[in-house]
Amino acid sequence: MRDKLTEFFYKLNRKDFLDGKYKDYAGLDNPLPIGYGQTISQPSLVLQMTRELELEKTHKVLEIGTGSGYQTAFLAEFSGEVYTVERIAELSNKAKSRIEGLGYKNVHFKIGDGSYGWSEYAPYDRIIVTAAAGRIPDALIDQLKTGGKMILPVGESDLQELVRVIKKDDGRIDKEYLTLVRFVELVGEYGWGGNPR
Ligand code: SAH
Repeated sequence: MRDKLTEFFYKLNRKDFLDGKYKDYAGLDNPLPIGYGQTISQPSLVLQMTRELELEKTHKVLEIGTGSGYQTAFLAEFSGEVYTVERIAELSNKAKSRIEGLGYKNVHFKIGDGSYGWSEYAPYDRIIVTAAAGRIPDALIDQLKTGGKMILPVGESDLQELVRVIKKDDGRIDKEYLTLVRFVELVGEYGWGGNPR
């Protein structure tokens, strides 16, 4: 039997998050270009990351890397409030009109550098980063609730590990490596082009 997440996965049309000729490829389980050198992830990975988050309707969720808004729709459907940060204004604005067009009223959009999170609404029950960092941004650990969970790709430019972080009572974190992935860069201090580490 399909669970609610799988049902939603089949109901949500990835075409709505793509432009022009790429709409024709929406059904493929591949990353696809969304402009500005960025990509929408393959659907199976969006499903896996959403599942890992174990979202609840009471959750406040922070997403870094709004992109097309496709992953945002899953967060909006299964959590309480979603705060999503994107550095490219055109992508953020397009994602906002798509998400609002689907009827979601629980998503808050910010244009800016998500490496520093969104402190105004912290702490968050869940954090998801859909661009790859060289190391886990400190601000995101700070903005995660105790007992909260964060999913993010960490590694080098050509390959990263998807990491699950759980913040423990003493403020320290537990890390678990889930699978190998390839995301576009989290631009800024924490990207692989950033400061030496
Ligand atoms: N989840 C998205 C995937 C977007 S790709 C989707 O479903 O379509 C990653 C996105 O992260 C890109 O749009 C890129 O512009 C954005 N990004 C990269 N570095 C960022 C940063 N420091 N702050 C905010 N967004 C960033």
